Amino acid sequence: MNLVDQFNTDFFRLDGKVAIITGGASGLGQYYSKALIKSGAKVMIASRSDKGVSELEAFAQKNGPEVGFISRDVAAENAAKDIVAATIKKFGQLDILINNAGIQIRNKWHEFEDEDWQRVIDVNLTAAYHLAHEAALVMAKSGGGKIINIGSMQSYRAGKFIFPYTASKHGVMGLTKAYADALASENIQVNALAPGYIDTPMTKILQEDQERNTEILNHIPDGHWADPSELMGAIVFLASPASNYITGVTLPVDGGYLLR
Ligand code: NDP
Repeated sequence: MNLVDQFNTDFFRLDGKVAIITGGASGLGQYYSKALIKSGAKVMIASRSDKGVSELEAFAQKNGPEVGFISRDVAAENAAKDIVAATIKKFGQLDILINNAGIQIRNKWHEFEDEDWQRVIDVNLTAAYHLAHEAALVMAKSGGGKIINIGSMQSYRAGKFIFPYTASKHGVMGLTKAYADALASENIQVNALAPGYIDTPMTKILQEDQERNTEILNHIPDGHWADPSELMGAIVFLASPASNYITGVTLPVDGGYLLR
């Protein structure tokens, strides 16, 4: 497909598109929401609480497109069906899914409870599977779409105090590849974004541990913990037509962490 004549920076725009972002009103998710809103997309947030939703609504009012909200635990029965149905009801279409909701439980290997394992796998991996399934059914009918899963450095490496999290994020990478292969013929690109070490509440415990903090900073060629806003460009790229020939990759946004 020769695009030379048509190509311009509008390929990075999302005007008229509709996105679901799980956990999209707080933590890193709010930066994905703001990035998509600024690029022209309408955004449906799905999370348990409405923390951050009114702030996003105000942001959307200032920047153009609308925001919707559905309160759901993504791991609950039928949550994926409900979230996709609510999006279609409000916006009439679905073009982009960002599976961002995630949890982490830290413990020594011999102290992990079975229910901790199950909960992390349910939220981080199984919910992403169900949401991708429901979203793909809609996208396939409408001619295509984008599914972006959120991985982690633990998609590549081990974390000895976060067994279930490491397994879930390796799983996210595998799920991304399998769906990318299966959905390519439907013009649905499936990729993952793997944030490196980002300055958020989830990582405060590491930043405050002086020894671990120094270890991490020495491991990042770029030399700093990223601000969450440093992920905004990559998420828009993966959601936009500019990345249409990219599928099945897990893109590290890590200041070079994985190089060492
Ligand atoms: P936060 O804990 O700050 O935010 C998580 C978001 O997900 C919240 O909006 C929360 O909303 C929502 N959420 C959590 N559980 C559920 C659930 N069961 N159902 C619906 N929504 C849920 O986490 P981060 O922003 O730090 O992380 C976001 C994603 O990025 C995760 O997948 C994480 O693994 C990944 N990541 C984070 C990194 C970091 O440095 N912070 C690094 C690499 C990856 P509510 O509580 O209202 O449901």
